Order: sequence, then structure tokens, then C-alpha cells
Amino acid sequence: MTDGQTITCDALVIGGGIAGLQAALDLADQDFSVVIIEKDLSIGGKMIRLSKVFPTLDCSSCITTPKMASAAHHKNITIYTWCDLTQLNNINGLIRAQVTRKPRYVDQDSCIGCRKCEYSCPVYVPDPEQGGFCATKAIRIPFSNAIPQVAALDPENCMLCGKCAKVCPTGAVDYFQKSVECIIEAKTAILCTGFEMTTIEGKPQYGNGTIPNVVTALQMERLLAPHGPYNRMLRPSDGMEPDSIAFVQCAGSRDRSMGIPYCSRFCCMYAIKQAMLLSGALPLADIYIYYMDIRAFGKGYEQFYQTAKAMGIQFIKGKVGRLEEADKGSVAVRFEAQDGTGVTTEQHDLVVLSLGVFPQWSPEGVCSVSTAEDHFIQTVQPSIGPTLTSKKGIFVAGAASGPKDIVDSISEAGAAAMQASNAILAFGK
Ligand SMILES: Cc1cc2nc3c(=O)[nH]c(=O)nc-3n(C[C@H](O)[C@H](O)[C@H](O)COP(=O)(O)OP(=O)(O)OC[C@H]3O[C@@H](n4cnc5c(N)ncnc54)[C@H](O)[C@@H]3O)c2cc1C
Repeated sequence: MTDGQTITCDALVIGGGIAGLQAALDLADQDFSVVIIEKDLSIGGKMIRLSKVFPTLDCSSCITTPKMASAAHHKNITIYTWCDLTQLNNINGLIRAQVTRKPRYVDQDSCIGCRKCEYSCPVYVPDPEQGGFCATKAIRIPFSNAIPQVAALDPENCMLCGKCAKVCPTGAVDYFQKSVECIIEAKTAILCTGFEMTTIEGKPQYGNGTIPNVVTALQMERLLAPHGPYNRMLRPSDGMEPDSIAFVQCAGSRDRSMGIPYCSRFCCMYAIKQAMLLSGALPLADIYIYYMDIRAFGKGYEQFYQTAKAMGIQFIKGKVGRLEEADKGSVAVRFEAQDGTGVTTEQHDLVVLSLGVFPQWSPEGVCSVSTAEDHFIQTVQPSIGPTLTSKKGIFVAGAASGPKDIVDSISEAGAAAMQASNAILAFGK
């Protein structure tokens, strides 16, 4: 990508998470040319950051990495990472996107991914890819199986000591790199911009992020991952092996005070998954899930839930009203149990919040595609056309139109690719 360039392709996919990758692969396999625009430094979305996946407990990175690699090596797919989409229009049937590629301060074509810059960098920063639990460097490859394997420099923490530029064997470090703007013209586009989680700081009743051993579900994914921050299950504040772990469900969703009245759909299942993985990692630990309703709606999900109960995971029906810091790093959980025992307080060594889910991208000011009341992309015929948006030629797949698990995101991506291929064929390819 060069400044001022116009790139043409058959289909433009916005977002390189699992939905975007699947849609791009389905189109590319039909011999259409596809461009993927990804705002992050690597493709893979949330799925590449998970430990294992429900309901099969497959290793998430083992099944996501091959898809990422297939997309990256596909002759019909071009991937641009670290890009901002600034405009997306359908002009007389032709999709026109304005894209800004942000500076990595490392030349993508010259970088060979050797990590010498990372090893020589003297600045340690909390690693966002490991939930902030361990350190990384100010110049780094974002994570071990990132695609592309290209380093990026974090200008906010770099002290311009010059060590990285000195050790780089290909002279790829470029402190003066500028952003690049280009136009992408396509016959169709698929929005696969996914979801984001509400922050731990958003809920004063749960400590606003000040209670040391209250972590988010995504942080728990990292703690459970085989290549996680500690390589074993430890409590972040003091390195203790927790004996009692609690999951707080609906800690941001189905909550009007957070502006998220809807159900996040996958939280019940990932909490059950994490509880099962924890009971494998810490067989003697007591594991509790505080819930309002368990929604195990997918194929094999009810069985998964029953298996968790049979493994001894304790399900407590009751809404958690308050979390407080207690003695020796433990967390006091105050809840109203629905079994008639009323308001009770229990102490746990570690608490995991199943936070709310909201759209990662808002089309406002960028694309005139409609959004629904919940702010996710609106699907105009949800019952018979779940991938159709309000704009002709622009389709949606995955969590961009609402919280969705991996299986549903992949099926929708296939459906959106089919719609997109019809739109391309209408141009007379
Ligand atoms: C803690 C946790 C555990 C989970 N565990 C499971 C599980 O075990 N099994 C399961 O089925 N599901 C699980 N899920 C749900 C799963 O993560 C989603 O189903 C899946 O990530 C949806 O994929 P997606 O591609 O639609 O969205 P995402 O994974 O969110 O990917 C969206 C991509 O789009 C990019 N993007 C966003 N906006 C833009 C833009 N404007 N321009 C360019 N790129 C953009 C993002 O950077 C990202 O790469 C879990 C979720 C969480 C939070």
C-alpha cells in the first residue's frame, strides 16, 4: 500500500477476526480477489486470544492459526493490518473505501520477524496481549503467532534510544514513518467488525477496577492459555494458587445501568468452559458460578453445562450486588440467592467478571449503514436474511450484528460470502 494508491478488488472485508477470515476464504476459493482491512496489528480477532473453545475444548490458537495462515498465503487475498477505515460508500453500485494505514515505525516489507529489536529494547511495558499480567517491550511482535510477523513500535513508551534500529539486520526500523492513505474500490463489502467488552472500571458496585483479584473473562482466557503469562494458574496479585474461584455472570450485560439491556449470548458458555478448565488446572479448588439464568442454547451446549455440574462446579442462582476487597487478597461477593436464603456474603480468592458486550465499530460518520437499537449493525431481514444490511452490496457477518459465538459467526460468514459472490457476479464477472 502506498500513499494515494487506488486498490481494486472484487470484495472488501472489514475486520480480520474469525468471521472476516472465513468470509474472505470462502470468496477467495471461488477465485474472487479479496482485500481484508484489519485495524489491529494482527488478524485473528478475539478467537486467537482465547485459551480453548466451548463446547469441544479444542485449543483455540491451534484451530485459528491455520485459518489465519490460509488467508495470509491465499493467492487471492491481500491483508492490510493496522488500518483505519475512514469512509465506506456505495457510489452507483461500486464500493469505495478510504483507508489510513497507521505507522508501525517498522517497514513491513523489510522486517523479517527476527525479534532482535524486541530483545534489545530496554523499555518494559505491560503486555496488553497477556491481560497486562506480564511485561513486553516497547518495540515488539504483538504475540507469538501474530500474522503478519512484523514488529511495531509503541511511540508512547519508546525513549528513542536507537538500540532497535542498530540491531535490525534489514534496517527496517523507521522512526519517521508516516501514515499512508489509500482508496479501495470493490464490487461488494462485508462488515466483520466484531465486538468489544465493557470495562471493569465501568461498574462502581464491582469496585471500578480497584479490587486486585477481580479479573475480566478475557484476562482469565490468558491465565488459562498454555502460553499464558505464568504458564500455570496463579492469582495475579500475589502468585498464590487460588482455592476458591467465583464467576459473576451478567456483570455488564442485561444491565440497564450499563446501557446494555440485551444478553451477551456467549458468556454463560465461556464461564462454564473456564470453570471446567480451572477444575482441570486446580483439581482441589472450589469453583462457583453466580448466575441469573444459564443460556446453553447451541448444539451440545446443554450437555456441556450438565458435564460441568457433574464435575462439581457449583451454580448459585442469584444476582451479585456488590464486590469488596477482603482480607489477604480475597474478594467478598455479596449476592441475593434465589433459594430463599436471602442476602449472603461469600469470600473467594479470585473473581472473574463476565462483562457486557458492545459493537467494536460504529459506522457513524464513516458509512451510512443503519444500526439497530442495541447499536450493532442492523440486519434488515433478520429472520430470512441475517447478513443483509440497509445498504445494497454491503453485508454483515459475525458479532458485528450482535453477540454471537464462533459457530454462528462462521456460518454467517459463509452466508455473507454467498451473498457477496452474487453481488460480484451481478457486475458480470
Ligand atoms: C472471554 C471470551 C471467551 C469466549 N469463548 C468462546 C468459546 O469458547 N467458543 C465460542 O464459540 N465463542 C467464544 N467467545 C465468542 C467469540 O470470541 C466470538 O464468537 C468471535 O470472536 C466473533 O468473531 P468476529 O470475527 O465476529 O469478531 P471479533 O473476534 O471481535 O473480530 C473482529 C475483528 O474486526 C476488527 N475490526 C473491528 N473494527 C474494525 C474496523 N473499523 N476496521 C478494521 N478492522 C476492524 C477487530 O480488530 C477484530 O480483528 C468468547 C468470547 C469471549 C469474550
